[in-house]
Amino acid sequence: MITPLLLAAALQSQAIGGYSAGCLSGAQALPLTGIGYEVIRTERARYFGHPSLIDYLTHLSRAAHRAGLPALYIGDMAMQRGGPFSSGHRSHQSGLDADIWFRMGNRPIKASEKREPAEWPLVDESTYKMLPGRFGHDQLTLLRLAASAPEVDRIFVHPVIKQAVCKQAPEAAWVQKLRPWVGHFSHFHVRLHCPAGSALCVPQAPIPAGNGCGEELASWLKDKPRLPKTPSKALPMPALPAACR
Ligand SMILES: [Zn+2]
Repeated sequence: MITPLLLAAALQSQAIGGYSAGCLSGAQALPLTGIGYEVIRTERARYFGHPSLIDYLTHLSRAAHRAGLPALYIGDMAMQRGGPFSSGHRSHQSGLDADIWFRMGNRPIKASEKREPAEWPLVDESTYKMLPGRFGHDQLTLLRLAASAPEVDRIFVHPVIKQAVCKQAPEAAWVQKLRPWVGHFSHFHVRLHCPAGSALCVPQAPIPAGNGCGEELASWLKDKPRLPKTPSKALPMPALPAACR
């Protein structure tokens, strides 16, 4: 439900450029706690987004709460003005991306972990095997709720997680939005469509037709790509749109 206040904020706010070469004006901050979620790694101050992202995360957390899931841990979103992070991933630049952890509030973050909470991987990346007991009803429900929202363009998950979803829900329309990618075994990455009113937002090419459970997934599972062992050095600065300067 879009309230007049939200609508006004959305019109003042702009996602500019692409997901990996862009910025954000008129960002909103996601409150650090709310119904059904908690923001983690808050000292990074990456909890900003376009109002459509704030709205999405708020609704998703409430829906998860209603479905009986433990509180969600929300990781990186965007910086207040968007743009490239100094470390970590390349995208998250235009306020339309968010990382949501598979670890949930039933495995609470201890005080000693506050700065850098321990991840809870679902997949052993070296063997490309699901870790026993980690992909269950809660994880499937969360992915279903997250991917079913019409404003979601795609969601990145580890290929082994996509494979697990393909086994359990091959007919579901939302499965198409789950895209295999390296990493993404402890969290999934939601990417929203360009919002209405952001004329300078550059969309990504549409995802291929079909549920993506066939040949494409098979090639990921065969090649088993992994994250680089040492994090790559500072990436070259992308050329940002003029409106970001
Ligand atoms: Zn991400």
